[in-house]
Amino acid sequence: CGIVGVFNKEEAANYVYLGLHALQHRGQEAAGIISTDGESFYVHKGRGLVNEIFNKKGIISSLKGRLAIGHNRYSTFGDESLANVQPLYAHFDLGNIAIAHNGNLVNALGIKRHLVSEGAIFNSNSDTEVIIHLIARSKKTSFFERLVEALSIIKGAFSLIIMREDEVYAVRDPWGFRPLSIGKLDDAVVFASETCAFDLIGAEFIRDVEPGEVVIANRDGVHSYKPFKNRSEHKCVFEYIYFARPDSFLWDRHVYSIRKKMGEVLAAESPVDADIVIPTPDSGVPAALGFAKASGLQFDFGLIRNHYVGRTFIEPSQSIRNFGVRLKLNTAKDVLDGKRVVVVDDSIVRGTTSRRIVKMIRSAGAKEVHLRIASPPVMSPCFYGIDTPTKKELIASSHTIEEIRKYSTAESVAYLSLEGLKSIVGENGYCFACFNGDYPIEFEK
Ligand code: 5GP
Ligand code: SF4
Ligand code: MG
Repeated sequence: CGIVGVFNKEEAANYVYLGLHALQHRGQEAAGIISTDGESFYVHKGRGLVNEIFNKKGIISSLKGRLAIGHNRYSTFGDESLANVQPLYAHFDLGNIAIAHNGNLVNALGIKRHLVSEGAIFNSNSDTEVIIHLIARSKKTSFFERLVEALSIIKGAFSLIIMREDEVYAVRDPWGFRPLSIGKLDDAVVFASETCAFDLIGAEFIRDVEPGEVVIANRDGVHSYKPFKNRSEHKCVFEYIYFARPDSFLWDRHVYSIRKKMGEVLAAESPVDADIVIPTPDSGVPAALGFAKASGLQFDFGLIRNHYVGRTFIEPSQSIRNFGVRLKLNTAKDVLDGKRVVVVDDSIVRGTTSRRIVKMIRSAGAKEVHLRIASPPVMSPCFYGIDTPTKKELIASSHTIEEIRKYSTAESVAYLSLEGLKSIVGENGYCFACFNGDYPIEFEK
């Protein structure tokens, strides 16, 4: 998911809207904005893309006030009902609260069972609602103490933006799974999942929210607290591989450069005797450029993307996903005809995409098709907010590389090695669980 918050800016909802637009790639199922003028909270949510939801004159101007937060939804927990669309909003003894969450909690089910047994009623089946309950039911007096208590109970991935009548909070879980950055726009404080949102609204990037940090923006300024037990840092390496936008600066590195480097290392590890290198657009482009550069082969666009289709993977049903590849990609026949082609993609999840593109490339006349994947095999599901649901669906969890090659119908298949990946991002500080099954925190049923 993508989250944005603005503190102290006239027409704050406008900026949040633009921020959500920049973060559209992080979730395309639904979106919402909640604003406040210090008294009332104003809410608008819907299903679909940001510009489909905020599509009528007057919607954004009805979201009044100098504080606003927003959320793009990519469902990894809870069903598609509107009750699950964030930001979530509630009223309790300390006033109003709105919350936007990126990530997945691993112990929400148990906490929820406990709360329900004590009479709590839930409006949604999102794991995020648990956080609101824990804050509202805490016996502590100040909001800050209650928040800290609630956040000490939950476990898992949570980058949060929380709004009250007069302040906006930004929080990253102590493991630091998901990104969240702080920016500045004149006198306003802006929070966003990725720095590409700052670029769009003209905000200046200040720094990342640190793992386990609670940042508060209010009329006294910006305050930082570190109220949690230290955990070892586990930033999601998949953000670098696929999820984040290449123009974002994430954890002090430019995503584009990292992806290009992945292609270079992949070319060094698994070279091919071929005529051209093509990417699977858009996510495979930087890695393919890196591959072409390192191997000295010509780079070209042999697959042309229809830009009016979203990320195929994010469509929830398999039937749509099957169509998705053809809806989204077609071949440039002149580029491919008679050639030995290397096609570079960022990742293989179910294997649907690669099989279809290999077949497409071959039917456009390619003599050979070599598949190169700029990440290690995805073997294990993610419990921290990336939608790779069951182990069974992950082709690499039950197939050898040779079996994947056969299934894809390519002449050869090679993945970036885990060592190769670590040589680029670093040995430590990242979660690699979907590649090596080494989960920093277990999912609790
Ligand atoms: P597959 O068809 O193997 O299931 O999907 C692989 C393709 O989906 C790659 O082109 C990759 O860019 C894209 N993809 C889209 N969304 C995701 C996601 O959330 N996770 C992963 N791993 N790949 C995704
Ligand atoms: Fe990211 Fe994979 Fe870890 Fe999930 S399991 S947080 S996708 S690195
Ligand atoms: Mg892709």
